[in-house]
Amino acid sequence: MTPARIAIAVFVALLAAGPLYLPPFYVTLVNYIGLYSLVALGLVLLTGIAGLTSFGQAAFVGVGAYATAVASVSFGLSPWLGLPVGLALTAAVAVILGGLTLRLSGHYLALGTIAWGISLSYVFGNVEGLGGFNGISNIPPLPLFGAAIQTAQDFYYLIWACVLLALAALVNLLNSRPGRAIRALRNAAMAESFGVNTAWLKLVVFVYAALLAGLAGWLHAHYLRFVNPGPFGVGYSIEYLFMVVVGGAAHVWGAIVGAGLITALKTWLQDILPKLFGSSGQFEVIVFGVLIILLLQHAGGGIMARVVRLFPPKRAAAIAPEAAPGLPRRAAPARGEAILEVDKAYKAFGGLVAVNGVSFEVRAGEIMGLIGPNGAGKSTMFNLITGALPLGGGEVRFRGERIDRLAARQIVRRGIARTFQHVQLRPTMTVLENAAIGATLRGRSGVAPATLRLDRAEERAILFEAARHLRRAGLGDHLYEAAGSLALGQQRIVEIARALAADPVLLLLDEPAAGLRYQEKQALAALLRALREEGMSILLVEHDMDFVMGLVDRLVVMDFGERIAGGAPEAVQADPRVIEAYLGAAS
Ligand code: ADP
Ligand code: MG
Repeated sequence: MTPARIAIAVFVALLAAGPLYLPPFYVTLVNYIGLYSLVALGLVLLTGIAGLTSFGQAAFVGVGAYATAVASVSFGLSPWLGLPVGLALTAAVAVILGGLTLRLSGHYLALGTIAWGISLSYVFGNVEGLGGFNGISNIPPLPLFGAAIQTAQDFYYLIWACVLLALAALVNLLNSRPGRAIRALRNAAMAESFGVNTAWLKLVVFVYAALLAGLAGWLHAHYLRFVNPGPFGVGYSIEYLFMVVVGGAAHVWGAIVGAGLITALKTWLQDILPKLFGSSGQFEVIVFGVLIILLLQHAGGGIMARVVRLFPPKRAAAIAPEAAPGLPRRAAPARGEAILEVDKAYKAFGGLVAVNGVSFEVRAGEIMGLIGPNGAGKSTMFNLITGALPLGGGEVRFRGERIDRLAARQIVRRGIARTFQHVQLRPTMTVLENAAIGATLRGRSGVAPATLRLDRAEERAILFEAARHLRRAGLGDHLYEAAGSLALGQQRIVEIARALAADPVLLLLDEPAAGLRYQEKQALAALLRALREEGMSILLVEHDMDFVMGLVDRLVVMDFGERIAGGAPEAVQADPRVIEAYLGAAS
């Protein structure tokens, strides 16, 4: 057993035996920690992993709690029915609020969540039938075979069963096709270019986190047997964020560690400070604030980040299988067919015309070079072809179809995959997981099957495919390393493998050889030749002229946004305009 597994086993054993040795006060405390952990788990996903800050999670706890309170007290429904009712209402509210606020980014998103967090807590206090600031009391316990789940001990087991199940579900989700897409959300342009609908996925993540809060609300209502607006205000939302940041926002266990630590700290301070300073002042608030600041300053990445650094996991979460059935492949075009036609493409950034009426075509099974000095507009051209930027004028057709009005994720679906000049990998994900993002569109399992681990056959196929391309590109020994730990040149190769995992017909490579050593360049050239042999078309931007000239079938040369030459490498090399603009200057 690995140290991590031993630690988890000890934790679960201590937890299971808790009520046998814990005094009643501590059973209650651990119950609260469990309730907070559920909310914090949602925040790990939403904030720590997807990068969306929410100051409104406590409000969702309130929606779940009030829904079941009203259902069971006012409508006399079974408390068990209060759970689906509460979750449905939470999801509905989350879809509306998420739809309104998730378009915002950064600070604006945070401010938006504060706004509706405050509004919802006013709703709890002021809507008729919710009992005003006194709330709703006499909420029934949970009936069970003639008895009831009602004591702190009963709830202890129920709450922690929910926490551990939610944790396992989240671990499953994160190590899956949709999970990798979620982990790529902080880099939305890259995710979109491999087929992820980031706006939709953000909403899904938001609702997922809200549902965990709603579940906590349901438990809260039947455990305490009354609800009032107090615990659902923005102040509590901030505390949930603290828990996650202190525990480790990027790690599922960070939720439990943070909830445990903050709750214990608060309780302990409330207990000890009046003894030190007398009972008059509310010193615990101040001391708590100072401690939080210290924790935030010294626990970069949270406690779990430190734990993981001290005890790095021996085995990556996603392992490539020895063998797996192949993923479906795209039908290849006939060799020589003009698959990409760029027709008078135009793009201006304000007054700067970056691409000015450039036309060229790429045929199936050829390597086409796109060269030109820095700032010539080559990367912009890539962005126009792949839909990362909207075209300002002209047309782009791929296999006969106009693609210049399509979104990036629709274009990759048609078989164009790219690498980025400025490497766009998720540095903390493994090399294998990064490459697997490329295969996103070749799988179909969504969040629900991934959570329940019903996606394993497809997952094996995806990981096998990602590993196959990585091995072929010479990175077979690095599959389980964090992508960010590789040399920059190798990271570019990971990007190529990721693009290949999308099963493209046309591969767009933006300076793939930059940062590579001589042997590595040779290996890359061999790989590109082999791909061409197999019928792949490649559009290649590269500054290393020896590399380009030895490889390409044809060239297009750009300068100041315009096409200045094109044709066979020998002819282009001899072209006086090219020599003046580029080759002469380079030598
Ligand atoms: P290349 O890849 O050939 O070096 P680029 O396509 O990156 O050139 O850039 C072409 C020109 O467009 C440069 O002057 C660059 O500063 C400008 N440019 C590129 N992207 C943007 C952008 N998003 N906003 C404004 N200007 C841009
Ligand atoms: Mg460039």
